[in-house]
Amino acid sequence: MLSESSLKRLKDLTEKMAISGDEVEVRRYLEESYKTYGGELIADNLGSIALVKKSKNPNAKTVLLLGHMDEVGFVVKSINDKGNLALASIGGWWSQTLLGQRVLVKAKDGKKYKGTIGSIPPHLLTEADRAKPMEIKNMLVDIGCVSKDEVLALGINTGSAVILDGSFEVLSEKRLLAKAFDNRYGCAMGLEALEAFKDVDLDVNLVVGASVQEEVGLRGALTLSYAVKPDVAIIFDCSPANDASGDTEAFGQLGKGPLVRFIDANYLPNRGFLDLYVDTMEKHKLPYQYYQSLGGTDAGAVHKQFSGIPTLTMCICARNIHTNSSIIDQDDYQNAQIAMVKVIEQLNEKTIDQIVKANR
Ligand SMILES: [Zn+2]
Repeated sequence: MLSESSLKRLKDLTEKMAISGDEVEVRRYLEESYKTYGGELIADNLGSIALVKKSKNPNAKTVLLLGHMDEVGFVVKSINDKGNLALASIGGWWSQTLLGQRVLVKAKDGKKYKGTIGSIPPHLLTEADRAKPMEIKNMLVDIGCVSKDEVLALGINTGSAVILDGSFEVLSEKRLLAKAFDNRYGCAMGLEALEAFKDVDLDVNLVVGASVQEEVGLRGALTLSYAVKPDVAIIFDCSPANDASGDTEAFGQLGKGPLVRFIDANYLPNRGFLDLYVDTMEKHKLPYQYYQSLGGTDAGAVHKQFSGIPTLTMCICARNIHTNSSIIDQDDYQNAQIAMVKVIEQLNEKTIDQIVKANR
């Protein structure tokens, strides 16, 4: 089982509402948490933030730890005369996960209104209609209003944010259920790092950051890494597990340890950094698993900044990501946390120099 403080952090973070482009709730939470550790807070102009924990070593290199704040969701595309809302997707959804789901709609003043994505009952559908998934463009959200004017009076308009509602639940000693483990896991890992090193004078400047708009194209990672200008970066994210069917050969097995992401759609790891990560897990007898991904993470943007920033991803896998019912394994989280601390402890001018030169 994770510690009470880690569970609390995950509950707080996953229950916040932060679609890409409207991450204010998570940002405020992180800002408040970061402040308790001292150091300088920095930000980019898109909404990403970071805390800089300076080393006493004047020649210290800079390490950026990064997780994205945003989650997939929707914005209101239009409001019809019956007071129902049509949706435009923010990030990738499979429409089959949506009908009948509870949603939250955020009004201009930040107040949230409950509702549901309407579904036509089977009684009213032909056999042929029942066999095909409904497209998102044909779905309507019902928040209990009876007219467009009533919706507008609440401060909900075209562009307002919508998410699928979902509470944080401890399912068992092993498993946790919540929305947005992708990527409040990453936000939480940054806080775990600050906690682990709060009384330690590191040989590197540690920058713990949280980016915006990852789900729509790694945008905040680009601007925040520009603001930080790190020598190396570690990206935390949650990747899809593919093990529920019992296929033990598939990439992404819950409970089999942190992921060694050796290839994905927009990034190849720095060889030296990847070796350091794998050697560290071997040395400390931590479980780990190789992982190939068809998707990407913020690493895809960060590693191409300036003349190249050697970047490592430290992901765990989750079932059902991009739904409001993702599931992670507590041991995976804990092992990722240990691996992260052990890797950072080894970073100094010399090892970072070796990492930087590893791909040359
Ligand atoms: Zn993610």
